[in-house]
Amino acid sequence: MSKISSHNELGRELELFDTFEDAGSGHVFWKPRGYKIFSNLSKWIEFEHKKRGYLTIKTPIIYRSHLWETSGHKQMYSDFMYLFRIKKEDMDEEWGIKPMNCPAHILLFKSKRRFEKDLPLKFFELGLVHRHELSGVINGLLRVRSFTQDDSHIFVKKNQIGKVVKEVIEFVRYVFKMFEIENIKFFLSTMPEKHLGNENVWREVERMMEDALKDAQVNYEINPGEGAFYGPKIDVEIKDAHGRLWQLSTIQIDFNLPERFDIKYYKDDGSKERVYIIHRAILGSLERFIGIMLEHFQGKLPLLFAPYQIAIIPVKNTPKEVEYAMKIKDNIESITNLMVEVDILSQEKTVSKRILMAEKKKYVYILVIGEKEVDENKVAIRNENMTLNDFLSKIKGEYEKWFSLTNF
Ligand SMILES: [Zn+2]
Repeated sequence: MSKISSHNELGRELELFDTFEDAGSGHVFWKPRGYKIFSNLSKWIEFEHKKRGYLTIKTPIIYRSHLWETSGHKQMYSDFMYLFRIKKEDMDEEWGIKPMNCPAHILLFKSKRRFEKDLPLKFFELGLVHRHELSGVINGLLRVRSFTQDDSHIFVKKNQIGKVVKEVIEFVRYVFKMFEIENIKFFLSTMPEKHLGNENVWREVERMMEDALKDAQVNYEINPGEGAFYGPKIDVEIKDAHGRLWQLSTIQIDFNLPERFDIKYYKDDGSKERVYIIHRAILGSLERFIGIMLEHFQGKLPLLFAPYQIAIIPVKNTPKEVEYAMKIKDNIESITNLMVEVDILSQEKTVSKRILMAEKKKYVYILVIGEKEVDENKVAIRNENMTLNDFLSKIKGEYEKWFSLTNF
């Protein structure tokens, strides 16, 4: 078995990211190639949320501390939180950087009257959160101090929990299937000894969640007593190409924050009723997910997310070959937003060396263009010849597997 490169090694070789320990330990600096992955992943995951009726929002990074007291984060997570005083003009008060997006989403939920017909209401944010991890555990993209969650809060009535949870389970399965990961396991964690809320409600909601797992026909296990103090949850574990397990998605029911923030909806008869909140993330942290996928695919990610996508190498760089190479580039760019690079700079090197260089960068497609390809309107990919038209429809198909241009 060949050696598995770590995402840190791949990140260096492929020039994807840096962490500049000196300037910002635990924070990711994306280089242009790495940002390509991050940006396309962000666009795609937001697009998938839109398709399913989620409403995208964007909320601030810093907040007055009293919000974190209301949410309970300050009392429970202050070790991980960045709290600081702002002394400006006539202000002298404590503020905190968000370690989670929930309170911000709740403020937006509360910003107007919500009625029964508005539920379930699904807010989605690519939310940047900061948590102070200890320096000993910091590792590249896998353990960082600031990261972007594909975070959602779904506001529901109790009897909607089962249906919504089932939809999220199916969403999770879809997302990993797109990344060729079919080995997924779900864990339902139930009421712990120390918990908030009424035991009957816990058991009722746990049953709804288990029924959702059964209905979706997924592989699951129950972790008795392992739920959060505020509600039962489902965690998702995937197995990568090297057999390693990663915990990524999470779906959590919350009996606590709706009380703390006193959030309700109006029923048709004018009375008010408590809402339930489902916290859920699918990729989890985009930074961590990219780290895991870099290792899973060993740098050669699916075409849309690959840092190096399509390289064209004109054999002799004759005007005729270069012109044809530029035509292919224009053709691909007119039907996708993929990155096509024509190698005309390293012409002093032999063709085999230039191909080797492109292979080291893990380009998904390396097209070699010689006199013959130009004359026959073809492209050569790894000793295989195909017509330019066939190649273009192949690329278009791979691209549209993720999303069609009209919706992008
Ligand atoms: Zn949350």
